[in-house]
Amino acid sequence: MMEQQSLPILIAVADPADRKALGKALADAGYRKVVSVADGRKAIAAMAGELFPIVIADSRLSGMDGFELCRTLRARELPGYVYILMLTRGNRKSEILKGLEAGADTHLARPVDPADLAARLKAALRVIDLERSLRLTNEEVRALSIRDPLTGIFNRVYLSERLHQEIKRSQRYGHPLSIVMSDIDHFKDVNDQHGHRAGDQILKDFVSRISGSIRIDVDWMARYGGEEFLIVLPETDLPSAYIVAERLRRLVAETPFLLRGKELRITSSFGVASYRSVRQSEKVSFDGLMEQADEFLYQAKREGRNTVRGARPVGPEMKGCAA
Ligand code: GH3
Ligand code: MG
Ligand code: MG
Repeated sequence: MMEQQSLPILIAVADPADRKALGKALADAGYRKVVSVADGRKAIAAMAGELFPIVIADSRLSGMDGFELCRTLRARELPGYVYILMLTRGNRKSEILKGLEAGADTHLARPVDPADLAARLKAALRVIDLERSLRLTNEEVRALSIRDPLTGIFNRVYLSERLHQEIKRSQRYGHPLSIVMSDIDHFKDVNDQHGHRAGDQILKDFVSRISGSIRIDVDWMARYGGEEFLIVLPETDLPSAYIVAERLRRLVAETPFLLRGKELRITSSFGVASYRSVRQSEKVSFDGLMEQADEFLYQAKREGRNTVRGARPVGPEMKGCAA
């Protein structure tokens, strides 16, 4: 359960004497981080700078009243749940219902009874804790669901989601985008000769070698299939992507991998495709880009493996690209 002292509370109450009394009651109940404002707009401004998981809102506020404040907060996409207590005149049913309708979680009748306040805040803490643990669990599930458990890089589900976004962004801003598809050569032999566990180790080492050599925070890598990987290079045109792929090919082929202290030579084939390599008149799609990379990867396989093949020149930027 969250500590009371560390939970920020926002009070939006018009009357200075009421504000003071409420502040004291909160301090007595152990709540130390309290911010008070006198009107609804200031409450919204305060919330823009920091998330207050508990808001105590007076129904009658100048400018924006408490009901409007509730509706505005509920309409916002905030980083966590906000538990709203509406301060009402006595126990007037119409006002209480109006508050609940506007999005308040509960009401507090004034003059505020400190015991009532403390009990309602305990209930608020339970809701906030519950929401927080649900949110964290969701985040953990999401983080696991987009990663490949063996290598730790993104999986195919995430690849599809993110590459669609990258293509859209590239189209919107007219920026280049390239992808490199890679497949380890004769990987079945590694498993057959050294065992599946050794194969797993090679896959992990292969991934860390490649992911450690691409631009942090810009380029990214996903496991597309068993020993097939996709490297996505935003802001990179075809000739540059080709150079990257050639560098990656050498990075794999030129230094042997270590398997239980013994050296093992591995090579990989690469197919490069670029957003611009698809004819300008054609709408670039996820499938179009992936098919093109796949096609060139298999050309690389057919033409001897341990090699890079890329799209044929379509526009002037492709000159000098060894297709
Ligand atoms: P090519 O050069 O044509 O790509 O030959 P290859 O042997 O690499 O191709 P193939 O597709 O026939 O074999 C891929 C192998 O990768 C077969 C499969 O057992 C292995 N593999 C796929 N996923 C994993 C994995 O997670 N761990 C291990 N150890 N092996 C895997
Ligand atoms: Mg292979
Ligand atoms: Mg394969």
